[in-house]
Amino acid sequence: MGAYNPYDNVVAMIRDAGEKLGYKESDYVATMYPERELKVSFPVRMDDGTVKMFEGYRVQHSSSRGPCKGGIRFHQDADENEVKALAAWMTFKCAVVGIPYGGAKGAVKVDPAKLSRGELERLTRRFTAMIAPMLGPERDIPAPDVNTNGEIMGWIMDTYSMLKGYAVPGVVTGKPIDIGGSLGRAEATGRGVMIVASEIMKKVGIPMKGARVVVQGMGNVGSVSARLLAEQGATIVAVSNKTGGIYKESGLDIANVLTFLDAQKERPFKEYNESGISHVSNDELLTLKTDILIPAALENQINADNAARIQAKMIVEGANGPTTVEADKILQKKGVIVVPDVLANAGGVVVSYFEWVQNIQSLMWDEDEINKTLSRIMLKAIDAVHEMHTKHNVSIRTGAYMVALKKLVAAKTTRGIFP
Ligand code: NAD
Repeated sequence: MGAYNPYDNVVAMIRDAGEKLGYKESDYVATMYPERELKVSFPVRMDDGTVKMFEGYRVQHSSSRGPCKGGIRFHQDADENEVKALAAWMTFKCAVVGIPYGGAKGAVKVDPAKLSRGELERLTRRFTAMIAPMLGPERDIPAPDVNTNGEIMGWIMDTYSMLKGYAVPGVVTGKPIDIGGSLGRAEATGRGVMIVASEIMKKVGIPMKGARVVVQGMGNVGSVSARLLAEQGATIVAVSNKTGGIYKESGLDIANVLTFLDAQKERPFKEYNESGISHVSNDELLTLKTDILIPAALENQINADNAARIQAKMIVEGANGPTTVEADKILQKKGVIVVPDVLANAGGVVVSYFEWVQNIQSLMWDEDEINKTLSRIMLKAIDAVHEMHTKHNVSIRTGAYMVALKKLVAAKTTRGIFP
């Protein structure tokens, strides 16, 4: 990531939203600093008997509106500034959709593809033990993110429960169903992306039927977004993973693509067979002519190098922080509508919230109730953000930050400053 510091962008966004709302800096200054940061180094015994050291982080950005909430990612490029930015985005995301959480995020600097299953489990359990003093259903609740999944959340739940001496399902969300996971959680982020995309498309007059959609990153978020948008009548023309992408002018057979990826998430698209497809690099994919572009991989994918070449009418940020500040400015000048991450991918944390509520109440909801309630919460947030965006003549991103900052400042003001 070089000298680029995503946390600087977060601070710039907060300041901008604060100024547009007419606040004094002292009203919102606390939201510009993470409340608590922990950096850990820990050993893991590898299968060959050697011991390897790993570095990890947990950052709690804000607990003004409730316990801190945010995913854990395993990635070789993870660093403190990235985790700080991701934690802050969680604070704003939870406030945008109005769920009673603050923001947090965690990461281990590791390429999990290079670990055996046993090594991955030992790394997860040791990292959980290292950050355990910060965790708890009323303190800080992790969830899956890049390269982590339900199985890993299960190991986190088990490790934390072993340390406590009793089962604590509410310490983590995105768990498998049989240990207190929620129906609908696995696909919640992609479902939210679909809901937000279709609502904003209605507002700006892009018909869903036949809309061309490009998805970068066919992981959890990207693959569900692609499937649900295809079900709504959109045409998915291109998709990718880290190995590269595929493109088909008349639309890919998305069911076939998903079956292909079922075998292995990172399966090289070079091995994919469908008549009429061509292979594209991730850079080519991002600049394809399309109605909707969904970046659903990592940060900084749309940047000063490629923003001028983007041909999408609308970008719906499935990933966190896929668009840099410079790119955002270029896109705004070009008239590209950017639906920001803090709104577009909030569906995941909303259903994580439902999972946590079910855990602490020892209750279970059915999937229909979950999807309906998710939809209701997302529609309310979309309307609030859209109203802010039109009323103040600001970008949708600034509108979303303004909606969130108002709630954060209100919470801080009501609680007051201790002591
Ligand atoms: P994932 O690990 O399931 O999938 C990531 C995908 O991105 C994989 O297909 C991978 O091959 C691909 N990828 C990685 N590097 C790439 C590159 N350079 N070019 C193209 N593709 C690349 O992760 P996920 O959970 O789907 O998360 C994706 C993004 O969505 C992240 O930014 C994450 O923070 C965000 N997000 C996830 C959730 C969730 O519930 N999982 C919720 C909100 C936001």
